[in-house]
Amino acid sequence: MQNKEIRLASRPAGMPTLDNFNTVNTVVPQPKDGEVLVRALYISVDPYLRGRMREGRSYIAPFEVGQVIESGAVGEVLQSRSPEFQPGDIVTGMFGWRLYNTANASSLRKVPAGAPISTALGILGMPGLTAYFGLLDIGQPKEGETVVVSGAAGAVGMTVCQIAKIKGCRVVGVAGSDEKNLYLKEELGVDVAINYKEGDTRLAVKQACPNGIDVYFDNVGGAVSDAILPLLNQAARIIICGQISIYNLDQPDIGLRPQTYLLVNSALMKGFMITGYAARFSEGIRQMAQWLSEGKLKYAETIVEGFENTPRAFIGLFTGENLGKQIVKVV
Ligand code: NDP
Repeated sequence: MQNKEIRLASRPAGMPTLDNFNTVNTVVPQPKDGEVLVRALYISVDPYLRGRMREGRSYIAPFEVGQVIESGAVGEVLQSRSPEFQPGDIVTGMFGWRLYNTANASSLRKVPAGAPISTALGILGMPGLTAYFGLLDIGQPKEGETVVVSGAAGAVGMTVCQIAKIKGCRVVGVAGSDEKNLYLKEELGVDVAINYKEGDTRLAVKQACPNGIDVYFDNVGGAVSDAILPLLNQAARIIICGQISIYNLDQPDIGLRPQTYLLVNSALMKGFMITGYAARFSEGIRQMAQWLSEGKLKYAETIVEGFENTPRAFIGLFTGENLGKQIVKVV
């Protein structure tokens, strides 16, 4: 068996390029006591990895140049030196971008049967939990309220849209293509979907929200948020989940200053990290799995085939190539 791994070759300046990564042949590692050997099946590419490619202090250590990139993945146990896992088990956890990884058994969890295993990286994994806790815990949407979601056709965003519909809200999604917006309306029941790449987004949001905005779930920040924040209602809640529009900027982007909108509306703006909800993950997964089995939740995945295309799949997040969860199928 030949192992391969993908390393950070250089730090991206602006938009990442394929030159920032290199693929290297390595040996398949041997598991030690308490470890398992896992063959990668699906690799998750996520926007936050861009932050880890930057030098400097953040909530998580940066990748060093020359280091293997790591992210969530689903794989099959080939060898086990832990009583918790058997060869053939399907597991998920954080792994290097490698064909074969060893991992401590305590860092892995078994992927339950009942849904396709790739969902452990999307609707039944970190993005699904992010939508669930961000919207329900911080946003606290109430029936009849207007919820606006940016990045609405992505993994987190499309889940937020649907949970807001389950809660009886009027939902307005903002995404980057007419095709994505058609999906949001026809497949997911979003009330209005706006293409922020065409026309006057501020006017479109205003027309879509005649009663103002009660909850804004922000995945993108930047100009899209500038168009949304002036329409807040009294006691509005703004969930700062992500700011993908600025992840590739080398200089800070000074846009609209939101303080006045928060002040005059007694509004709450709160950022969060999904890791902060770790103690409640099983509650979130249970509820999401139930909604999925009842047909109340749908999901989409964009599958890029081939391990060596992992960097390309990652870069595609920043050009909006994905509908729903962007995943690499390794084989
Ligand atoms: P997505 O599946 O939403 O993929 C990223 C999407 O962002 C693209 O498809 C693209 O869609 C959109 N996008 C890219 N560039 C821009 C831009 N300049 N302006 C506006 N939209 C842009 O990713 P995820 O669902 O995994 O993540 C969504 C957000 O949530 C990210 O910001 C991520 O960092 C954040 N996040 C935060 C977590 C937390 O703990 N707080 C946990 C998980 C994710 P389009 O075609 O619409 O442009």
